[in-house]
Amino acid sequence: MKVAVFSSKLYDETYFNQFNQSGEIELVYFKESLNPNSVRLASDFDAICVFVNDIVDAEILKMLKEMGIGLIALRCAGFNNVDIAKANELDIKIVRVPAYSPEAVAEHAVALILTLNRKTHKAYNRVREGNFSLEKLTGFNLADKTVGVIGTGKIGAAFCKIMQGFSCKVLAYDKYPNKALADTGVEYVEVDDLMQQSDIISLHCPLNEETKHIINKHTLKEMKNGVMLINTSRGGLINTKHVVKALKHKKVGFLGIDVYEQEENLFFEDLSEDIIQDELIMRLISFPNVVITSHQAFLTKEALEQIATTTLNNILDHKHGLELKNAVN
Ligand code: NAD
Repeated sequence: MKVAVFSSKLYDETYFNQFNQSGEIELVYFKESLNPNSVRLASDFDAICVFVNDIVDAEILKMLKEMGIGLIALRCAGFNNVDIAKANELDIKIVRVPAYSPEAVAEHAVALILTLNRKTHKAYNRVREGNFSLEKLTGFNLADKTVGVIGTGKIGAAFCKIMQGFSCKVLAYDKYPNKALADTGVEYVEVDDLMQQSDIISLHCPLNEETKHIINKHTLKEMKNGVMLINTSRGGLINTKHVVKALKHKKVGFLGIDVYEQEENLFFEDLSEDIIQDELIMRLISFPNVVITSHQAFLTKEALEQIATTTLNNILDHKHGLELKNAVN
């Protein structure tokens, strides 16, 4: 079975090749992301493998169908970039990796919190330049702070557990509260109460029509002055323009993001010699109380192993006509 792997990076090749031992799958790696210009690369293949910023809309699905593609294997959990209804209509199967080390993402959210809070990124640079001053490095304790978690699925639950370890009070909002998590002391509240009471708000829900711009000028108004916002989920959960305004007015005291609304034009590439045209991200980068990472929360050895093995098993299940356990319908 021939599979075209789009948006491929060296770490994808390394882990996929390590675990692709069955001899039943031929993987061909393309650096190009999937878009209307690159879709022709998929001709002569049986399936494609894509990542978070590949475009899998109705137009591309139609072209893939004409080429005979029967399976799209997402090597990620989120599927907001795929037109699922169109894929169903065309009978193209979509599979994903529903869980790969939720701790990888949860721990990265905590890394963003601790970096912002204790200003370790600034301290690191200062000390390297022989500047041992502590001026303007004052942080705050996490113990006894209130942390609001929106979305308590696999990643949100792992994040709650870590924050409880810091002796934080953990509030949560989810459409489907998790009783086992509530039994550990996580308090489920209405989303408005969470916005009003939290010192730190961390987003762990998927991006969909209900959650798009869940952080906007109205919800920002409800929040505590100086709130810390953390987003390791999807860029579209935050109305970036509204948050920039809130940063300027000091309503938002800290922002840590691993995802960004227009990240598909920027993230995963070395643009250090380019003139970046995205004014919004340049404004965000200019704030001293903003830390941005380029969608790296998933990037641990454990997660890459899990992504490779689950994706390869999904492809083999399809090849053998078995039930697709990780199908997205
Ligand atoms: P999950 O499906 O286990 O959990 C999502 C939770 O969100 C569920 O409990 C669900 O009930 C809840 N939810 C759905 N709609 C909601 C709403 N309107 N309001 C509140 N809660 C709602 O997913 P997960 O594995 O925990 O992943 C969460 C998200 O993290 C993914 O959707 C993906 O976008 C993101 N993610 C990011 C990275 C990264 O590298 N930055 C990696 C993996 C996943």
